[in-house]
Amino acid sequence: MKLTGQCLCGAVKYQCSAEPVISGNCHCKDCQRASGSAYAPTFFVPEDAISIQGEVKYFEIAGGSGKKARRGFCPQCGSQLFGKPEAMPGLIAVRAGTLDDSSQYHPQVDIFVSRAAPWDYIPPSATTFPEMPPNPTV
Ligand SMILES: [Zn+2]
Ligand SMILES: [Zn+2]
Repeated sequence: MKLTGQCLCGAVKYQCSAEPVISGNCHCKDCQRASGSAYAPTFFVPEDAISIQGEVKYFEIAGGSGKKARRGFCPQCGSQLFGKPEAMPGLIAVRAGTLDDSSQYHPQVDIFVSRAAPWDYIPPSATTFPEMPPNPTV
Protein backbone atom coordinates (compact mmCIF):
# COMPACT_ATOMS: atom_id res chain seq x y z
CA MET A 1 0.00 0.00 0.00
CA LYS A 2 1.26 3.44 -0.88
CA LEU A 3 -0.25 6.53 0.68
CA THR A 4 -0.30 9.63 -1.47
CA GLY A 5 -1.91 12.99 -0.98
CA GLN A 6 -1.75 16.71 -1.50
CA CYS A 7 -3.04 20.06 -0.32
CA LEU A 8 -5.99 21.80 -1.95
CA CYS A 9 -3.92 23.79 -4.47
CA GLY A 10 -1.45 20.98 -5.22
CA ALA A 11 1.70 22.93 -4.27
CA VAL A 12 2.41 20.37 -1.52
CA LYS A 13 2.39 16.65 -2.31
CA TYR A 14 3.50 13.60 -0.34
CA GLN A 15 4.09 9.90 -0.80
CA CYS A 16 4.49 7.39 2.00
CA SER A 17 5.71 3.83 1.67
CA ALA A 18 4.90 2.74 5.26
CA GLU A 19 1.64 1.70 6.88
CA PRO A 20 0.27 4.11 9.49
CA VAL A 21 1.57 3.36 13.00
CA ILE A 22 -1.59 4.76 14.58
CA SER A 23 -4.69 6.47 13.23
CA GLY A 24 -7.21 8.52 15.12
CA ASN A 25 -9.54 11.48 15.24
CA CYS A 26 -8.51 14.31 17.55
CA HIS A 27 -11.37 16.38 18.96
CA CYS A 28 -9.23 18.85 20.96
CA LYS A 29 -9.97 22.57 20.73
CA ASP A 30 -6.70 23.27 18.91
CA CYS A 31 -7.68 20.79 16.18
CA GLN A 32 -11.15 22.33 16.00
CA ARG A 33 -9.66 25.79 15.55
CA ALA A 34 -6.90 24.78 13.14
CA SER A 35 -9.24 22.69 10.97
CA GLY A 36 -12.36 24.84 11.32
CA SER A 37 -14.16 21.55 11.87
CA ALA A 38 -15.28 19.12 14.56
CA TYR A 39 -12.06 17.10 14.67
CA ALA A 40 -8.82 16.37 12.88
CA PRO A 41 -8.60 12.89 11.30
CA THR A 42 -4.93 12.00 11.63
CA PHE A 43 -2.58 9.10 10.95
CA PHE A 44 1.03 8.79 12.05
CA VAL A 45 3.81 7.37 9.90
CA PRO A 46 7.58 7.13 10.46
CA GLU A 47 9.13 10.43 9.42
CA ASP A 48 11.75 8.70 7.27
CA ALA A 49 9.06 6.82 5.28
CA ILE A 50 7.39 9.93 3.89
CA SER A 51 8.62 12.11 1.07
CA ILE A 52 7.24 15.65 0.86
CA GLN A 53 7.46 18.00 -2.11
CA GLY A 54 6.70 21.70 -1.96
CA GLU A 55 7.03 24.32 0.75
CA VAL A 56 5.38 23.55 4.07
CA LYS A 57 5.07 26.23 6.72
CA TYR A 58 5.04 25.14 10.37
CA PHE A 59 3.24 26.81 13.24
CA GLU A 60 4.46 25.86 16.71
CA ILE A 61 2.17 25.58 19.71
CA ALA A 62 2.07 23.66 23.00
CA GLY A 63 0.31 20.38 22.20
CA GLY A 64 -2.22 18.45 24.29
CA SER A 65 0.61 16.66 26.08
CA GLY A 66 2.08 19.99 27.20
CA LYS A 67 5.02 19.40 24.87
CA LYS A 68 5.48 21.43 21.73
CA ALA A 69 3.76 20.45 18.51
CA ARG A 70 4.37 21.87 15.05
CA ARG A 71 1.43 22.07 12.67
CA GLY A 72 2.34 22.12 8.99
CA PHE A 73 0.26 23.75 6.28
CA CYS A 74 0.53 24.92 2.69
CA PRO A 75 1.38 28.64 2.69
CA GLN A 76 -0.45 29.11 -0.61
CA CYS A 77 -3.86 27.57 0.09
CA GLY A 78 -3.77 27.12 3.89
CA SER A 79 -4.57 23.40 3.85
CA GLN A 80 -3.32 21.60 6.93
CA LEU A 81 -1.25 18.57 6.11
CA PHE A 82 1.23 17.60 8.80
CA GLY A 83 1.94 17.63 12.49
CA LYS A 84 5.15 17.02 14.40
CA PRO A 85 4.42 16.52 18.08
CA GLU A 86 7.54 16.45 20.28
CA ALA A 87 5.71 13.83 22.33
CA MET A 88 5.97 11.36 19.43
CA PRO A 89 9.56 11.58 18.17
CA GLY A 90 10.34 10.00 14.80
CA LEU A 91 6.72 10.14 13.71
CA ILE A 92 4.92 12.64 11.54
CA ALA A 93 1.17 13.18 11.66
CA VAL A 94 -0.73 13.49 8.41
CA ARG A 95 -4.26 14.89 8.09
CA ALA A 96 -6.29 12.10 6.54
CA GLY A 97 -8.47 14.48 4.54
CA THR A 98 -5.45 15.23 2.33
CA LEU A 99 -5.18 11.60 1.11
CA ASP A 100 -5.84 11.04 -2.59
CA ASP A 101 -7.81 7.94 -1.56
CA SER A 102 -9.77 8.75 1.60
CA SER A 103 -10.68 5.07 2.06
CA GLN A 104 -7.06 4.38 3.09
CA TYR A 105 -7.74 6.00 6.47
CA HIS A 106 -9.07 3.76 9.27
CA PRO A 107 -9.42 5.61 12.59
CA GLN A 108 -8.69 3.32 15.57
CA VAL A 109 -9.30 5.82 18.35
CA ASP A 110 -11.07 9.09 19.06
CA ILE A 111 -9.14 11.27 21.51
CA PHE A 112 -9.89 14.39 23.55
CA VAL A 113 -13.60 13.58 23.20
CA SER A 114 -14.29 15.50 26.45
CA ARG A 115 -13.55 18.65 24.41
CA ALA A 116 -15.79 17.67 21.50
CA ALA A 117 -18.24 20.24 20.15
CA PRO A 118 -21.95 19.60 20.93
CA TRP A 119 -22.56 19.17 17.21
CA ASP A 120 -19.74 16.68 16.75
CA TYR A 121 -20.70 13.07 15.97
CA ILE A 122 -18.74 10.16 17.41
CA PRO A 123 -19.99 6.69 16.41
CA PRO A 124 -21.03 4.50 19.38
CA SER A 125 -18.59 1.82 18.16
CA ALA A 126 -15.58 4.16 18.45
CA THR A 127 -12.82 3.58 21.00
CA THR A 128 -12.79 6.88 22.83
CA PHE A 129 -10.50 8.61 25.30
CA PRO A 130 -11.64 11.71 27.22
CA GLU A 131 -8.16 13.20 26.88
CA MET A 132 -4.86 11.87 25.51
CA PRO A 133 -4.64 8.04 25.67
CA PRO A 134 -2.27 6.89 28.41
CA ASN A 135 -0.18 5.16 25.75
CA PRO A 136 -0.36 7.08 22.45
CA THR A 137 0.44 3.94 20.44
CA VAL A 138 -2.69 2.11 21.66
ZN1 LIG B 1 -1.74 24.30 -1.26
ZN1 LIG C 1 -6.04 17.78 18.54
